Amino acid sequence: MLEISPERLDELLKKQKAFFEAGKTRGLEVRLAALERFETIFVEKKEELLEALQTDLGKPTLEAFLAEYHFLLQEVRLLRKSLKQWLRPRRAKSPFYFWPCRNEVRLEPHGQVLIIAPWNCPVQLALAPLLSAVAAGNTVILKPSEEVPACETFLEKLIAECFDSEWVTVVTGGAKFTSSLLDLRFDFLFFTGSTRVGKIVAQKAARHLTPAILELGGKCPCVVDASVDLEETAKRILIGKLFNAGQSCFAPDFVAVDNQIEEALVEELQRVLSAFPWEEEMARIVNGRHYQRLRALCQEGDFRKGDDGPNVLHLAPRIVSGGTWSDSLMQEEIFGPILPVVGYADREDLLEKLSHLPVPLALYCFSTNEAFVDDLTMRVPSGGVCVNDVAKQGSNLEMSFGGKGESGYGRYRGQRSVEAFSYERAYTKRFLWFDPFESIPPRGKQARFLQKWMK
Ligand code: NAD
Repeated sequence: MLEISPERLDELLKKQKAFFEAGKTRGLEVRLAALERFETIFVEKKEELLEALQTDLGKPTLEAFLAEYHFLLQEVRLLRKSLKQWLRPRRAKSPFYFWPCRNEVRLEPHGQVLIIAPWNCPVQLALAPLLSAVAAGNTVILKPSEEVPACETFLEKLIAECFDSEWVTVVTGGAKFTSSLLDLRFDFLFFTGSTRVGKIVAQKAARHLTPAILELGGKCPCVVDASVDLEETAKRILIGKLFNAGQSCFAPDFVAVDNQIEEALVEELQRVLSAFPWEEEMARIVNGRHYQRLRALCQEGDFRKGDDGPNVLHLAPRIVSGGTWSDSLMQEEIFGPILPVVGYADREDLLEKLSHLPVPLALYCFSTNEAFVDDLTMRVPSGGVCVNDVAKQGSNLEMSFGGKGESGYGRYRGQRSVEAFSYERAYTKRFLWFDPFESIPPRGKQARFLQKWMK
């Protein structure tokens, strides 16, 4: 990680501004050509990408392939296919007293965009917003996470090969550097990371009144009522939880289960955890600091699969039963392969508790009782919802993705991404013809006429 000097950064930003102002990011054809070039080079670098993810996070090939490589490939292909249509101005009507005129709403790029990415899906969460920012006609500075150096280097090399630095550049650095980067004036900020840092970003954005999208984290509840199929429920919860070793923003953080089936569900979760070699195909914890943080949340008696491997940052997956809402595991986002299960005796009490927690990115519910699901989703807000499974609401390019409250604000993905990296500009064109509604004093007669007809 080599930090750029303040002088070089300043020079880079000036060059990007000049590039943007010269209109070099604006033509549809240049944007499509840039996306095509990206796709070609990205495909060539597939193995390099999977290797970087293996080095930094020990990501199993299937997870890396699906969540980082293939997801991005789908996104760039969708952008290339649909961009022309998505950018088409939307024609609008107007009140009769503005006639004759033509109206349309155009999507215009913000200008200079800063994207700050986290470490857990370090390539997807850096490049998905980046591609849409480019498609929308912006210049981009990308700041990847410093916690995943192999991916950081991969992104630097990839972007340098795909784009002129006046258009898109990767800069690297830690918290202090990123904080000083945020002091500069950008036209739009896109941040993915923790709620704590999100608040810093929002404060810095406010200084320049810079619009921003914040994609943050939190504790995503997974509610299970007594009406479910236990085996399928346990499998789906564990698949979602252990993806990337629980280091996903929308992983189910904890399970809240109806007391009537608490024991049975815990037994089933333990059985399913024991029955398959999860621990052999699980990402590792990103670094020693996070490993120690997670290890400190574990107790001797916790049910676990396999052994911990502190030297290789492997944390055995665990199910922690018999817990209460005041346990330390229930206070902060876990972001690791530990699944606490708490029971509830009374639905009203459960809804009351959940509705007072910070608003999560995702709310999960396993139930066949539609009235209960409706009540839960009405009373407990969240960025997204998935019923009878986990994570499926957050991995679909046809649906927008984002948080609410403490889990962030703003939406992106697919068409919503191009809209997010643009602003809507109302464009009205009139003609210098006779104007029957021209309003020039004395206006008494006109006022009487208009009040008669405009009711
Ligand atoms: P983080 O907030 O520690 O870091 C994110 C980025 O912010 C990094 O690039 C980092 O360099 C930078 N940063 C760190 N401290 C900073 C500071 N003081 N000032 C300015 N910038 C700073 O988050 P992380 O640990 O990389 O990622 C994990 C968190 O991100 C979890 O909370 C997770 O839920 C959340 N997350 C959310 C989403 C989403 O889409 N909503 C996706 C992935 C991760």
